[in-house]
Amino acid sequence: MNTKDVNATDNDTTKPNIAFIGLGNMGAPMAENLLKAGYRLSVYDLSAEATERLQQAGASVADSPKDAAQNAQVVISMLPAGQHVHSVYLGDNGADGLLAELPQGTLVIDSSTIAAADARLVAEAASKLGIDFLDAPVSGGTGGAIAGTLTFIVGGSTDAFAKAEPILAVMGKNIFHAGEHGAGQVAKICNNMLLGILMAGTAEAINLGVKNGLDPKVLSDIMLQSSGRNWTLEVYNPYPQVMENVPSSNGYQGGFMSKLMQKDLNLAMQTAEDTHVETPMGAKATELMKRMQSRTAIEISRALWRVTTAQIE
Ligand code: NAD
Repeated sequence: MNTKDVNATDNDTTKPNIAFIGLGNMGAPMAENLLKAGYRLSVYDLSAEATERLQQAGASVADSPKDAAQNAQVVISMLPAGQHVHSVYLGDNGADGLLAELPQGTLVIDSSTIAAADARLVAEAASKLGIDFLDAPVSGGTGGAIAGTLTFIVGGSTDAFAKAEPILAVMGKNIFHAGEHGAGQVAKICNNMLLGILMAGTAEAINLGVKNGLDPKVLSDIMLQSSGRNWTLEVYNPYPQVMENVPSSNGYQGGFMSKLMQKDLNLAMQTAEDTHVETPMGAKATELMKRMQSRTAIEISRALWRVTTAQIE
């Protein structure tokens, strides 16, 4: 372990020690909010740049997940996808990951968005070792992570939920207990599938209006006061310059990246297929998102081609 251990100034010994794994766009601000609230944090990420930021904020930096979890009563992870969660907790052969190193009674909270089946797999392995596991994906994006206003959607036992709640309340505003293991992930992808459908539908409706001579702002205002009103129209208008400080008014940069939406829609489609549930609207939104992604990829490779040929010439 890195010897620099700068605890938060007002840390409280009655609070559990926390190991935080995965310090990306979401994990870093979430961990910073815990430090600000006086929790002692030991952090781990594959990226040195990511850990450096947390070290400056007062965390101690560990060399491995196991190292981070030494002396921790609670482990929180915020990783990109199911394979990363699997690899951290279960290891390469399913039994040589972090879970095998944790003492009984440790509380593990995974806030990554992953398949419910993957969350249940890790929960089952944890439960055999006497470890409490919660799937606790979030909604609210990087803005919510920075402001500490995330929505946590939690799956797992009532007892583990009660232990986790005060810690989650530091990073979020709304904390829901959705049900047993995996329920948090199911609720999260149901929400995001609906968001994908609403985003596609809103963009389609505004485009239809504009192509028929309407001003996008006027049309958006009309729909906001009519039955088409939805979250996308309220805070995330997809048409440029209708709203300030949204990706559409910033060259479609920033915000909830389309590759993450694609990932969540794929998870929803996988769950629907596994459980034989029909989701025709979700399937259409997934197809549209895929089409948009491949168009973006073609545009990027064309731009790269132009730059490379210009350099050769
Ligand atoms: P990110 O890619 O910015 O961060 C992931 C971090 O995990 C990176 O710093 C990476 O180095 C680290 N990492 C990867 N493998 C690791 C390993 N084996 N051990 C330790 N660290 C490892 O991703 P993010 O935007 O922070 O998203 C994290 C999760 O939150 C994802 O599951 C995403 O779907 C979900 N989510 C993201 C948003 C958002 O707006 N970004 C919103 C809601 C939910």
